[in-house]
Amino acid sequence: MKKVLILGSTGSIGVNTLNVIRNFPDRFSAAALTVNTRIDLLEPQIYEFKPRVVVVKDEKFAADLRRKLTIKCEVLSGIEGLISVAANLDYDILLGAMVGFAGLAPTLEAIKRGKRIALANKETLVVGGEIVTELCKTHNAEIIPVDSEHSAIYQCLVGENTKFVNKIILTASGGPFLHLNNEELKNVTVKDALNHPTWKMGNKITIDSASMMNKGLEVIEAHWLFGLSKEKIEVLIHPQSIIHSMVEFVDGSVKAQMGLPDMKLPIQYALGYPERLESSFPKTPLPKMNTLNLFEPDMEKFECLRLAYEVLETGGTAPCVLNAANEVAVDRFLNGKIKFSYIPFLINKALEKIENHKSPDIETIFECDKLTRELASQL
Ligand code: NAD
Ligand code: MG
Repeated sequence: MKKVLILGSTGSIGVNTLNVIRNFPDRFSAAALTVNTRIDLLEPQIYEFKPRVVVVKDEKFAADLRRKLTIKCEVLSGIEGLISVAANLDYDILLGAMVGFAGLAPTLEAIKRGKRIALANKETLVVGGEIVTELCKTHNAEIIPVDSEHSAIYQCLVGENTKFVNKIILTASGGPFLHLNNEELKNVTVKDALNHPTWKMGNKITIDSASMMNKGLEVIEAHWLFGLSKEKIEVLIHPQSIIHSMVEFVDGSVKAQMGLPDMKLPIQYALGYPERLESSFPKTPLPKMNTLNLFEPDMEKFECLRLAYEVLETGGTAPCVLNAANEVAVDRFLNGKIKFSYIPFLINKALEKIENHKSPDIETIFECDKLTRELASQL
């Protein structure tokens, strides 16, 4: 029985992870669940999955929950609670499904204990890639990607040697604004941006998909996961979201991993690896897939994608600045405070103003994140 600590159990990935655990009660159990504010959603999860401990962000919510629960379950709060659980609890796999930079600190604790990290929280690798990968080597911790593109590449690379990889090709749906021009992009609403054509996801990543920052973050994530330079990481638009990504080898052979767009598949793969577990979800109806399109993205229109390639080249704390400024910008867009086209503008400004530090230690990264958030909130 593998015990899973789920960071972010009430989100889109968290709920899908619990669906997988529910399907395999003899293989997986939920050792701990952590959430931000939605204790209304957490409560039924506690009664169903009986975790030993849960963590909620605010102590006030934690106190409410302690009063209400009629089942034995420790309730902790805050970042201290998250770190304490990751550092001390008995578990086998950390499923990182929190959104944003907040997922980094507890993930580092799990790595220090040599745990398996099933990683959805791409921001962890974007901001702390160098530290995270070094620490994984030191402590013999493995990261199995949950992000569908990276899971696809991971699956294509099983049994291969990365020295024979010519390039990897990350596919992107192109989001809801694929066919809009720059002028039309200026007037899109929050509702338009949240209307993703193929994936159902949390709000932050859905906005990132609309701006294609999501693909930018994934380019950086792929760089750290697979040790490839930016020249070897290509992005292609694939509106049907059936080919989840591809690897081209030096002999010209291309391997692709395909499937219906359902995050349960990569989650289940990351939990069960190296085994493949039988699933009951619908199989890909290949004869009905008459058209699978692939084409290059417009880097002028999707400025966020271009910026992500640039910060990968710059290195140091630049990816941290990009990520923090993006988190602030997306939050402000979702709250109706800025226009969609201001997202890259704000990131550009933060990158201009904040000094870059090469090979940052973890304190420098936390400091840089804080500084960028302060600056981006004032812009
Ligand atoms: P979501 O917004 O649906 O859920 C986020 C979860 O994190 C919630 O349970 C929330 O309670 C928790 N959380 C947020 N901030 C927190 C904080 N400060 N402290 C404690 N808990 C906190 O997000 P999601 O769509 O599930 O995405 C989660 C992560 O997975 C993101 O990094 C995203 O980029 C990545 N990802 C998601 C998908 C997807 O299909 N949803 C696909 C690939 C990668
Ligand atoms: Mg993805």
